Amino acid sequence: MSGFNLLHLVTKSQPVKLKACGLPSGTCHTKKTWPKSFSPEELRKRLTPMQYHVTQEKGTESAFRGEYTDHKEEGTYRCVVCGAPLFMSDKKFDSGSGWPSFFDLIKEESITLTDDFSYGMHRVETSCSQCGAHLGHLFDDGPQPTGKRFCINSASLNFQPKNVAPEGAEPSGATGQSSSSSKSEL
Ligand SMILES: [Zn+2]
Repeated sequence: MSGFNLLHLVTKSQPVKLKACGLPSGTCHTKKTWPKSFSPEELRKRLTPMQYHVTQEKGTESAFRGEYTDHKEEGTYRCVVCGAPLFMSDKKFDSGSGWPSFFDLIKEESITLTDDFSYGMHRVETSCSQCGAHLGHLFDDGPQPTGKRFCINSASLNFQPKNVAPEGAEPSGATGQSSSSSKSEL
């Protein structure tokens, strides 16, 4: 069924953009260079085939198959390719769609939105602003307060549990007394 989808995505050149930018050629701001880039060889080694397919070839994992769909631990979801923090667990909700869904992101600029006209639909594609990894899509049927639904592939994410605290939380040997208001718990 889905075989034909793959064929026309295997283009090595830049994706065809339908967007006319109205500016003199050469000054068009298409975000096709990302701050971080990785070679396909490296990513093939480092990522699972599904992670590679989703992030680099704009694939979609099967619904209810991703490892984070029903994941409820507290922590941070990062880009699986470059490690950029994208979503927090407290913004995750159960959308019933079969993919991890979030109603908000950590920083607006951490995700780049692009029009996606594939499959005869107009959707908004979400990509990592650091490395351009495909993440999923954004819909407007999410819960309040944002009304947004970031529908993200588990394969694009790497979960970092909250309770893995960085070491050295207790600085020692500080000169001068620290004020008594500092709490030693947490
Ligand atoms: Zn990334």
